[in-house]
Amino acid sequence: MARELSDEIVVVGGGVVGLTTGVVLAESGRRVRVWTRDAVEATTSAVAGALWWPYRIEPVALARTWALRSLEVYEELAAGSEPAGVRMVEGVMGDTRLDEVDGWLAGRVPGLRAATAGEGPGTGIRARLPLVDMPAHLPWLRDRFVAAGGVVETRTVTSLT
Ligand SMILES: Cc1cc2nc3c(=O)[nH]c(=O)nc-3n(C[C@H](O)[C@H](O)[C@H](O)COP(=O)(O)OP(=O)(O)OC[C@H]3O[C@@H](n4cnc5c(N)ncnc54)[C@H](O)[C@@H]3O)c2cc1C
Repeated sequence: MARELSDEIVVVGGGVVGLTTGVVLAESGRRVRVWTRDAVEATTSAVAGALWWPYRIEPVALARTWALRSLEVYEELAAGSEPAGVRMVEGVMGDTRLDEVDGWLAGRVPGLRAATAGEGPGTGIRARLPLVDMPAHLPWLRDRFVAAGGVVETRTVTSLT
């Protein structure tokens, strides 16, 4: 959640969503503070398996835009030399049928196909997807935010008013 105070933006939360939002805003020239109750290492983001795959996210139309943009960014980070903790991995995602995958997603993920019987247990799909090493990615995001002029403050918000 971002709240504007005069020309300064306050982002509440310093997990992957808050820090990523902070990076985008700070690198576009805004003055930004991230208020976080917890150190980044103590957030839910720090323990995420962090495989990129849109899963039950709403509203669907917006989530599709977010997902495609983040896929593009993670692919760039995986191909680049930044120590962002992002790499592309090929593997089998279990319990997913190819005909359940939305068309917009199937058309964008390179090499997406049904897994064969020898490739994994039960029904699955094989794909090459971004996988993020969060203990590396979160400090990298925080450093990138600070380098863009952002400020991280340990602060617990009790009311948005
Ligand atoms: C075991 C596990 C595996 C996962 N695997 C995946 C996966 O493979 N792929 C995937 O996409 N997602 C996965 N997730 C989900 C993913 O971790 C979350 O969707 C994501 O981390 C949410 O990020 P966030 O920044 O919104 O929240 P969080 O990381 O929870 O951060 C919340 C932030 O808000 C701050 N905060 C909270 N309350 C206050 C307050 N009152 N005042 C100030 N600050 C406050 C916290 O201190 C923290 O900084 C997984 C989650 C778990 C637990």
